[in-house]
Amino acid sequence: MHHFNRREDRLFAENVDVTALAEHIGTPFYCYSTATLRQHYTRLKDAFAQNEVTICYSVKANSNLGVIATLADLGSGADVVSEGELRRALLSGIPAGKIVFSGVGKTEAEMTYALNADIAQFNVESRAELEQLSEVATKQGKTARISLRVNPDIDAGTHEKISTGKAENKFGIAWDEAEASYAKAATLPGLEIVGIDIHIGSQITELTPFRNAFTKVADLLEKLTDAGHNITTLDLGGGLGIPYGPEDAPPPSPEDYANLIDEIFGDSGCRIFLEPGRLIAGNAGILVTSVIRTKKGEAKNFIIVDAAMTELMRPTLYGAYHDIQPVITNGNVQDVWDVVGPVCETGDFLGSERSLPEPQKGDLLAIFTCGAYSASLGSSYNTRLSAPEVLVDNEKFEIIRARPQYDDILALEKVPDWLKKA
Ligand SMILES: *Cc1c(COP(=O)(O)O)cnc(C)c1O
Repeated sequence: MHHFNRREDRLFAENVDVTALAEHIGTPFYCYSTATLRQHYTRLKDAFAQNEVTICYSVKANSNLGVIATLADLGSGADVVSEGELRRALLSGIPAGKIVFSGVGKTEAEMTYALNADIAQFNVESRAELEQLSEVATKQGKTARISLRVNPDIDAGTHEKISTGKAENKFGIAWDEAEASYAKAATLPGLEIVGIDIHIGSQITELTPFRNAFTKVADLLEKLTDAGHNITTLDLGGGLGIPYGPEDAPPPSPEDYANLIDEIFGDSGCRIFLEPGRLIAGNAGILVTSVIRTKKGEAKNFIIVDAAMTELMRPTLYGAYHDIQPVITNGNVQDVWDVVGPVCETGDFLGSERSLPEPQKGDLLAIFTCGAYSASLGSSYNTRLSAPEVLVDNEKFEIIRARPQYDDILALEKVPDWLKKA
């Protein structure tokens, strides 16, 4: 569900005319819907009415302060994977007590920063990290609350680049070493074991992988409790998928997902953390681009637009499909087009073999489901200016990240002194 709807022939973001936005801001730009963000957060939260659940929005999906603050306002926590994301979460008003820190490569500096912020917990991904966190915490005179991210060796049935819970992935502590790692953690100073953590992948479109993983976690919980550990939190990760294309089978509903968690952990007495990213933000954004020109080739027809893989990496990175529609429908005949950007890479495409009416130069296209892993995965390759982000709320809108100027991005670089002419 989202709040980008057509009124007669024109696309609106809630009650804002997308064409008027484009005239005001220039293209390309991302446009996010507050109502959609709120709806996704609230639906998931409400699905868990029976349980104590803390939704820790996964900041990497969409890291804009305006988006995080919208969720903070609803009571969301955050899942962060770097000091930069932790700073964003705190700046956006998320209380430290609702922030969890994941990731395989936390540095000593990042651990120190997070300990001083007093975050809810570190999700520790290896024995070596346990030992280092223990040292850093001891040096700071602090105690780090920890969960171990265990790798349940489950095939999430998703794209190989976003599968994280198989034995060959770099994430988490191997299942067979989980109990020994908890025993080790219990001996280290500066650490307090509070929970178990998993995250098996992203864009998961069936419940079965979750069921398999959660069942293993329940088993581990029992063993750890028997071994005398006081496990009070279960962080079940994110990963619930969303529909991208009109033909996609609907992924499991938040209610089905919540029922599964309730069935397996309802009696555990543990506080549940969830780390959804895509589910909250994915459908809450579009990328608006204008047509530079069309090019009819011998083998293919191309629509060349001013957005590119620098704004939307997912098609070339994961072979992902994003729906593309004209912002204003015209009656032109349909043809089959590849929609491509100006970047000098063959992989720079946004959609291939799409039926679209022949556009004119300057016509606007909307690319859907660009609220997650779009702006946050962006780059400035080819010295492009990062596209601005706009947040709409009913009939209001605000630019929540401005388009930089060329001088801004060039100011960080310099020609070395030895090349400067006297
Ligand atoms: C990326 C990530 C998430 C969010 O995944 P989604 O598929 O966007 O829900 C949650 N937890 C961790 C540890 C992650 O790396």
